[in-house]
Amino acid sequence: MFKLLFFITIIAIVYFMFFSKRKPFPPKKQEKAMEEAMIPCDTCGIYVQAKETLMSSGKHYCCSQCLEKRS
Ligand SMILES: [Zn+2]
Repeated sequence: MFKLLFFITIIAIVYFMFFSKRKPFPPKKQEKAMEEAMIPCDTCGIYVQAKETLMSSGKHYCCSQCLEKRS
């Protein structure tokens, strides 16, 4: 009987570790998706990766030329 309880405890610990390890993954994936999201340039409309856009007064631009044209 104690052996069975021991095994159940081990399984429970393994199960918990498995889930606690897997839990942080979805938010990280979402963060990566946000970084790789394509945003259109406000001047020329070209889609640029969100992390590579230039932001000015809440608008995104693909390059400094586009930024200068609008501002
Ligand atoms: Zn542009």
